[in-house]
Amino acid sequence: MVYIISFLQILQPLTFCRVTTARKPASEVSDRTARRRAQELQTARRLSSGGDVQHQLARELQLVPRETLKEMLQHLKLTLIRIPDGHLLSAKTDLNMTWSQTRELKRWLKANNIQCESEITSRRIAGAMLAEQEVQSELLPFTVKDADGCRTVELRPAAAVTSLKATVLDYLKRSAEEGDLTWHDGAIPENEIWVKILADHGGESFKNAFQVLNTKHPKTVVFSLFRAKDTRENIMTGNGQIAAGIEELKDTVWKLPDGRDARFRLFAAGDYALLSTWYGISGACGVRPCLYCEVKKVSMHLPKEDRELLILKRTLERLDMQYHDFMERGKGNRQEAKHYKNVIAPAMFRIPIDQVCIPGLHVTLGLYNKLYDRLEHELNDLDAIIATNLVRRVLPDPDVDQAQVLHHHSMHGLIPYVVAVEEARQIDEEVEAIKEEIDELENNLAWAMLYADTDVASIMRVKEEVDRLMEKKETLERKSKKVKEKGKVTTTNGPLAKRLDEVLQKRRVQRQAYQGKSFIGNHVHAMLKEDAIEDLTSIAKVAAEEIVTEMEGFPLIIVTKAQQIHLNFKRIMSLFAACYKGYSHANPMSEDDILALDRNIRSFIDTFRELFPTMTFPIKLHLLEDHMVEWVSRWGFGIGFHGEQGIESTHAAFNQIQRSTSGIADPVRRLKATLENHLLRVSPSHHGGVPAPKPRNFKV
Ligand SMILES: [Zn+2]
Repeated sequence: MVYIISFLQILQPLTFCRVTTARKPASEVSDRTARRRAQELQTARRLSSGGDVQHQLARELQLVPRETLKEMLQHLKLTLIRIPDGHLLSAKTDLNMTWSQTRELKRWLKANNIQCESEITSRRIAGAMLAEQEVQSELLPFTVKDADGCRTVELRPAAAVTSLKATVLDYLKRSAEEGDLTWHDGAIPENEIWVKILADHGGESFKNAFQVLNTKHPKTVVFSLFRAKDTRENIMTGNGQIAAGIEELKDTVWKLPDGRDARFRLFAAGDYALLSTWYGISGACGVRPCLYCEVKKVSMHLPKEDRELLILKRTLERLDMQYHDFMERGKGNRQEAKHYKNVIAPAMFRIPIDQVCIPGLHVTLGLYNKLYDRLEHELNDLDAIIATNLVRRVLPDPDVDQAQVLHHHSMHGLIPYVVAVEEARQIDEEVEAIKEEIDELENNLAWAMLYADTDVASIMRVKEEVDRLMEKKETLERKSKKVKEKGKVTTTNGPLAKRLDEVLQKRRVQRQAYQGKSFIGNHVHAMLKEDAIEDLTSIAKVAAEEIVTEMEGFPLIIVTKAQQIHLNFKRIMSLFAACYKGYSHANPMSEDDILALDRNIRSFIDTFRELFPTMTFPIKLHLLEDHMVEWVSRWGFGIGFHGEQGIESTHAAFNQIQRSTSGIADPVRRLKATLENHLLRVSPSHHGGVPAPKPRNFKV
């Protein structure tokens, strides 16, 4: 037995403390001995720490190397982390993992001392979250195009919640529990719940969704989808229960947690073609193409004061009456639709027309594309002029002063060329219009055949009309090709037009090749900034000036025209940007905001008419001119609030979810599981999911 004496201070009283001499290393002794030894050391520590044992122990631990300390704590299972229940389920849905992948992840986490809920618990939580949102799926007959482009009927899967009302109410209840309900500082009346119904086709399926607008960040909840195209007949087949669900919701009074009663106000949103289909009008190609009023297509381009005196607003009641007339007097013959204000089918939903949101995103994209294409066309024309001049310059004629020839004769020689360009463009526009008409007629034909609501003779007439238009289209295409060849018009970008691509690239903007080279919302947003407009509209002018000053023989008209293009397009795009800023957001709007938007829209449309008097005046321009201010004044929000945004991004999300359900062989069960996974993902009770990435700020 040995006694150690601590000589801390010579004058301090000494304390004796017993420490038994060890014969075996600590790792080999019995539990009892180990405990005794630890107690001995504890006594020693108590004595030498002056009562502050914890502090003393911490100092001792600091002497142990970090890695050794970590190993010791792990060995003692003191580093165990327990993740709350439900969080693994959230991670599973956010990461699109299958159950077996989740099990693997769980094993890996466990090996690293992280514990989470069991699979039984995950499944129980998922079951509780979906208890009120039962999903049903089945095979339904949809019309599809086969490999030869022929229409045929095929059984395809469709999935939907059994009750839209139950799903919306459950969503509201859960949002209320999370404290996520809001009336946007009184912008929504306190006894109303606003729900937006929206739909879109993408990623090979047609989806119906809702957004509860009384939430801080409204989420898009898909409640029904089917795997077929969005033709009128397919939507009728696939949307079976939705109209009834909407009616049920309209009549529901919901008791808020604070005891107030709230009624539902429903809005509808989608792209223009879909809205036309929902409400049974023939669409953008009809004689009366507008969903909101009965304006004629031929007078849309005129300023309001020059149009017919009385243009009635469309209402559900008028649509019903006109459809009734179309069937009774018009015998349901689509060729006669113009006599019935282009109403050709019953309205699928009873959401009033003034609650159908103007498709703001598509208005923006359509109009921006139109302006951009026009700019590109004008630069192509200038490029053609440059090309023609080049050819003339290289003509080997030593006796002629080339500069003189070009200055005098090229101007003269360019006239037939410019005429050819213009002629070809007009033909191309005609071809485009016919293509749209053919598409519409084909849809009508399929509809008529499926529902046999017209006689055989009338179906044959539509068929003949399609054939006639096809022939006309082909003749026009041949003609356009000939004109272009005659005038040596090239379709590839020349030195000026290709500069546009450089500006887009610099700003990381890409036109989507699969959508006919059109832009997407975020890109238009970037391109409507002041400096982007200046870059885009001035770049060709700068290039033209270089060409003309650095090379001999080019007429000054190239520079003057390029300058004119810069001025005109800068003006029209800036005016459009001001409108866009005013209507596209999702915030409440004051009276001043609305007045400013009204002024901006007027200047934009007036300038459009002034600069492009012969350009077609699309329905999107009419929506902007006649109905945008009307809408924002009625509902007090920017169009982004009620619009069709949100549904398009669900297509990508569903494609991801399908990765985790692709192992299910039966397509009906697979679609059901896909929809259920989506519902879990967007549930307000979804906790502990994968955080959204931090937005990266690109410098442009
Ligand atoms: Zn209208």
